[in-house]
Amino acid sequence: MTKAIATAARTREILNTYDLHAKKGYGQNFLVDLSVAARCAEAGCLDSAVIEVGPGIGSLTEQLAQRSRKVLAFEVDERLRPVLQETLQAYDNVEVVFQDVLTADLKTTVPELKRQYGSVTVCANLPYYITSPVLFRFFECGPDISLITVMVQKEVADRFSAAPNSKDYGALSVEAQYLYMVKKLFNVPRGCFNPSPNVDSAIVQFQAKPQADLAIDTAGFFDLVQGAFKQRRKTLYNNLKEYTGSAEQALNLLHEAGIGEQARAQELGTEEMIRLYRCYRGM
Ligand code: SAM
Repeated sequence: MTKAIATAARTREILNTYDLHAKKGYGQNFLVDLSVAARCAEAGCLDSAVIEVGPGIGSLTEQLAQRSRKVLAFEVDERLRPVLQETLQAYDNVEVVFQDVLTADLKTTVPELKRQYGSVTVCANLPYYITSPVLFRFFECGPDISLITVMVQKEVADRFSAAPNSKDYGALSVEAQYLYMVKKLFNVPRGCFNPSPNVDSAIVQFQAKPQADLAIDTAGFFDLVQGAFKQRRKTLYNNLKEYTGSAEQALNLLHEAGIGEQARAQELGTEEMIRLYRCYRGM
């Protein structure tokens, strides 16, 4: 039996065989710690279909393939085609699509996978340069994705799970916590990758809230949240004034929602933000 891919020796061997050098521009840091790969896959699979972003040379993919019925992986780097053909040849439940995940038609793919396999999860060691846009593409798919388990930069993980009034709390926190129960699972030191990045990572998990809890329109709500946090130093009133284009409307909104005129967006929890949005929409 061949050695697991997520080890320092096997990764070096694969990189040497294919004369492959990690591309910084694609955020390539290959996981070389088998216990991290196994723990991440264990937490991120539900014995159904799992979507991976950026299989790289297959370190995490292999672990996902051993724990799920289907792995659909999107990889942007064509150089990895022959590598993955070899490293994942033992797994006939893996499909690699060579495409930028940001251009993938997830709104069709996700419901189709759900219909075929019962449930869909996302599990990935994300390329750091597109963490937020990738996550929002998945967030947009709503509760069809029951679980998202991703490795991200440690500071970013803190932002997703941050509480109001902390320095990490912002629009990302409100948006993630509105749709999901967010939990940081464990930290991953930089030494677990080849090449080592300049920062440590963490695995963060998003578990979908029941659909009934999401009584407002997500896109409109996210838009207001972005407006409320537009300039962090400013009061919410000033940001709302710019967002609504009217000082009077901004003030009325705050009064109606029972929020002080001097409050800043970072003091508001998700529930208060939702209240503000309901007032804004006259709900
Ligand atoms: N999963 C592998 C692992 O854990 O070792 C590699 C993770 S590496 C941090 C990120 C991977 O995402 C790379 O393989 C990179 O080529 C790929 N990638 C970068 N941008 C992408 C995009 N827009 N769409 C799909 N894959 C992308």
